[in-house]
Amino acid sequence: MRTRIAPSPTGSLHLGTVRTALYNQLLAMSTGGEFCFRLEDTDRTRSKEEHTDEIIRGFEWLGIKWHGEMLRQSERDSHYQEHIDRLLSENKAYKCYATPEELDEMRKQQRANKEQEGYDNRSRDLSPAAVAAYETEGRSWVIRLNLGQDRDIQWDDVVRGPMSINTRDLGGDPIIQKGNGQVLYNFAVVVDDYEMQMSHVFRGEDHLTNTAKQIAIYQALGISAPIFGHLPLIFTKDRAKLSKRKHGDIAGVDKYRNEGYLPEALVNYLIATSYSNGVDEVYALDHAAKDFNPDRISKSPAVYDIDKLNWYNREYMAKLSYAELMQELQPYLKYDLAKFDEAQQEALIEAIRGNLNKFSDINQNLVYFFEDEPIEEKLTKFIDEGANVLQELYKLLSADDFDYSDAAAIKDAINALGEKLELKGKKLFWPIRIAISSRSHGPDLGLVISLLGREKVLERLSQCMNSVRS
Ligand code: GLU
Repeated sequence: MRTRIAPSPTGSLHLGTVRTALYNQLLAMSTGGEFCFRLEDTDRTRSKEEHTDEIIRGFEWLGIKWHGEMLRQSERDSHYQEHIDRLLSENKAYKCYATPEELDEMRKQQRANKEQEGYDNRSRDLSPAAVAAYETEGRSWVIRLNLGQDRDIQWDDVVRGPMSINTRDLGGDPIIQKGNGQVLYNFAVVVDDYEMQMSHVFRGEDHLTNTAKQIAIYQALGISAPIFGHLPLIFTKDRAKLSKRKHGDIAGVDKYRNEGYLPEALVNYLIATSYSNGVDEVYALDHAAKDFNPDRISKSPAVYDIDKLNWYNREYMAKLSYAELMQELQPYLKYDLAKFDEAQQEALIEAIRGNLNKFSDINQNLVYFFEDEPIEEKLTKFIDEGANVLQELYKLLSADDFDYSDAAAIKDAINALGEKLELKGKKLFWPIRIAISSRSHGPDLGLVISLLGREKVLERLSQCMNSVRS
């Protein structure tokens, strides 16, 4: 089994490309085959080196490893010409001399007559005299593949089952080479996949029509086509195709790396968008490869779901040791934790680990340990309603002998206070938490009070008590 990913470096690395790469890699890994990488950079104007770098960087980060060297399509021009020449000599391809103006006129007519739009194969059977006249005129030309009589192009798609597309729906004889010698995508792909000995081509289902054209090219060249599988595209919940243009950087890989997602989580999430091994939900690439079965790839559209990705990321973050977590957090940390001793730092980080969807969430979970934040308007009513809780707590915490070092004892004291005031849950904890941390949720209250320390806790409590509106 030989599979490949063949991205075009014309934009940032899209999640869909990564997912296609993963399924191809899984296919190869599951059978001890080879997974290759071909860069489809023949579009000289749109292909950019910065995108190539981004693709390679993204694959490396995600642990997508390819066999051998990355192949650049732009360096393979010489491979295509002999195949073009052969098709021309066998009359399976021909020069088309139609000018852009003529083609515009043709389309206008087709629209006016409510006919299917597409090239009308007008240059297919030009007489030698007509060709000679165009040549004398100095007209430029392109090479088109002769699709012949209308017929169904069929293949057995690994994901979608039996497929059939009629040649009449391919928009006329397709161009395979431009007048400047540059071959077009569908032709280059066929020659490359053939020469690279690809056994399987898995790609997005936006390539279905291309596949029909490519099979026609394989047939014309008299070579056998690989096995095809077309993967469902990724849509957002509002049923729009996930794209950089519409959805911005959520469609690309860089955002997730920059924000501190674990590559294993993104890989696992992307595989799972259209695949289930029926047993585990959380698995590494190697593990998924063991029993990867392409029959289990879903035909239905995949849905981009950030909550699900966050769930995966939390699962993978939970597996990190404290030391590993600290190392990952370091580049994102805006605050200096050194004001706490080692044990306190560990207690704090461990207490908020579960609240992080990604490493860059760290600062928003630490703010109130380092800065005074205003209390949001919608939370102030809890301060007003809990004024007596705050007063009682203040009495308790301002006692000279109150021990701030023992988080568990502080929590016990708050619980005891609740019993005394006959308050529990939100009525007891929210006024306290909001007063000392400006928010309604966070890690263990005993720990928060212990870490903030006497001076800060009493300062925030008294400030809130002074602001109470009755
Ligand atoms: N360069 C094509 C793309 O990025 C690849 C299609 C294929 O896999 O053949 O969509």
